[in-house]
Amino acid sequence: MAACIFCRIARGEAPARVVHDGERVLAFHDIRPLAPTHLLVTPREHVASLWELDDPQLAGELLSVAARVAREAGLERGFRVITNAREHGGQEVDHLHLHVLGGRRLGAMLPRLF
Ligand code: AMP
Ligand code: ZN
Repeated sequence: MAACIFCRIARGEAPARVVHDGERVLAFHDIRPLAPTHLLVTPREHVASLWELDDPQLAGELLSVAARVAREAGLERGFRVITNAREHGGQEVDHLHLHVLGGRRLGAMLPRLF
């Protein structure tokens, strides 16, 4: 996965504003933020999307780092964690990442059921 942009960031070959640099998980600022805080949490190893993720420990670490960077960013009023998977999910970078969004009230994503 030599050309994968998030693999290149993980190897230190492409720039990023890193906020968490762990053994298996990296978090950095999104270059086109959609909210005052917009971070991406990714595995260092190449996993294409949530569809391919089959490692409960890595899954736990990703979610745990998402919570940690949200706390460190001061998002006590709330935040949202999203992952887009594959074509119908609108995924643009084919390396698994969790978006951590906060710092403003986010619009509802799902229709109210009642
Ligand atoms: P997705 O549609 O879930 O695949 O989102 C990909 C996200 O990666 C977008 O929000 C982009 O702004 C972001 N992105 C793409 N390239 C970079 C980069 N080099 N550094 C930081 N964020 C990036
Ligand atoms: Zn990759």
